[in-house]
Amino acid sequence: MRPSFHPKLVNGPFEDPALFIPFLFQKRALLFDMGDLHRLAPKEILKLTHGFVTHTHVDHFAGFDTILRTFLGRQKAFHIFGPPNFLQNIEGKLASYTWNLVENYSHGFSLKATEVHPTYTISQVYDCKKGFKSNQAQEEAPFDGTLLAEPAFSVHAVHLNHKIPCLGFNLKERFHVNIMKDRLKRLKIPVGQWLRRFKEALYEEHDLEEGFQVVWKEAGKERELTFRLGDLANQIAHISPGQKITYIVDVLFSPENSEKIIDFARNADHLFIEAAFLDAELEVARNKYHLTAKQAGTLARKAGAKQFTPFHFSPRYAHTAHLLQEEADRAFAGITSDQ
Ligand SMILES: [Zn+2]
Ligand SMILES: [Zn+2]
Repeated sequence: MRPSFHPKLVNGPFEDPALFIPFLFQKRALLFDMGDLHRLAPKEILKLTHGFVTHTHVDHFAGFDTILRTFLGRQKAFHIFGPPNFLQNIEGKLASYTWNLVENYSHGFSLKATEVHPTYTISQVYDCKKGFKSNQAQEEAPFDGTLLAEPAFSVHAVHLNHKIPCLGFNLKERFHVNIMKDRLKRLKIPVGQWLRRFKEALYEEHDLEEGFQVVWKEAGKERELTFRLGDLANQIAHISPGQKITYIVDVLFSPENSEKIIDFARNADHLFIEAAFLDAELEVARNKYHLTAKQAGTLARKAGAKQFTPFHFSPRYAHTAHLLQEEADRAFAGITSDQ
């Protein structure tokens, strides 16, 4: 199965957290957290449509400026989500610059921000051409765990305790459409743009009886074949459960957090989870409202994650990163003794 989403941590495990999630065959990406983003090329940043911030400690939010800087002067919209008090944080960032020349820009960047409370959200739009002033009314909506729902995927949040509310995120693909290349070959049809339309038709639940046109170019000429959508799906597509990516950082190992995380990350294909300290420094971890590597691995195992990546290591282990990784791996494998 070729996954639709290819998440990658922007930085090394000792550096700022940011998970960049590009979409296969699309100029589109999502971002979980935005610490230092200077390693992302502008063309990657410009793929972003939505960003999700767990909490506004500087190591998770400093990259907002990079996004703002890159989008400025472009006809783009970006929607950013964050924890309670997030609109005040965003407005503080925007207020720290001078915007006297932006009204003359030919392209206007539009920023929408949503702060996520346990049962409701508040959204506000900031237009570049208006100097990012929030002169519209705030929009309030009920929140049931889902932040974004599109035909092909959805993004969900859970509120966790880091002495302040800290959000965990899930990206869930609704189902996965795998194209069987050998079947395409048998039909003598090449891959191309039409595959994206085909997948969209399946995600948008088009009537399987309706006609679907496959269009491609052959020796400079346009070729076209029409299929019944359901027939084409039966012939070339294999439908399997969708991908699930979970992102958890900066949380206290409390019974309440643990229960929420295990439930939220259940059967994730890939869990990214902080592992700040070694279990030998359990007390330090507790006082700083962070996880130990052992706790991270244990949560990943209990959630049944298929793959997990511990990261966001404390700099005190700069020369002993392998110890954190080993401790997390052992807990993930369920090895409790030191043998
Ligand atoms: Zn952090
Ligand atoms: Zn933090």
